Amino acid sequence: MKCFNCQSFTLLSFCDRCIKELEELSLGKRELENNFKVYSFYKYYEIKHLLHSKHHFYGYFVFNTLAQLSFAKLKDFFNPPVCINAIALDDRVENTLYSHSAILTKYLKSKTIKPIFSALQAQNQVKYSGKSLDFRQKNKRNFKLLKEIKNPVILVDDILTTGLSLLEAKSVLEKNKIRVLFALVLADAKV
Ligand SMILES: [Zn+2]
Repeated sequence: MKCFNCQSFTLLSFCDRCIKELEELSLGKRELENNFKVYSFYKYYEIKHLLHSKHHFYGYFVFNTLAQLSFAKLKDFFNPPVCINAIALDDRVENTLYSHSAILTKYLKSKTIKPIFSALQAQNQVKYSGKSLDFRQKNKRNFKLLKEIKNPVILVDDILTTGLSLLEAKSVLEKNKIRVLFALVLADAKV
């Protein structure tokens, strides 16, 4: 088969050279309002073509590889003394038969980090991709909390653009007395 990144022949989803490249993370941090920190593993342009795979079935393999190289590494440098939960922004399964954000969240699992799936669901299925800030502000995602969460939370999404969705999700959790520690995304679109 062909490497999803460079199209050269490979036996796996990615060729050795591209795996080595993707192993080199470009860790970033952006602060949203009220000092809410969002950490990213890649620069958007580095993996833009790979992020588009989420609209296709092959994205299942792409996101598993990316998550192994990035989200799975969190436990190497973040060891919370208490149990915390990881929650994807909206991990409902659509027509691609998997949820890309659930894949990312799954790889955070460690002794103290416990992913919880289908906890937050956007009631408004509006697509933000390519839309203006004004449009995003007028069309809120209306997140609904579907599970009882007892621990502090890390929020997970694939791309950080305006950060509005993350802030909206955070505020829904906080209204339910849940502490939101920070957010993790694969890529920050502003760097
Ligand atoms: Zn390659």
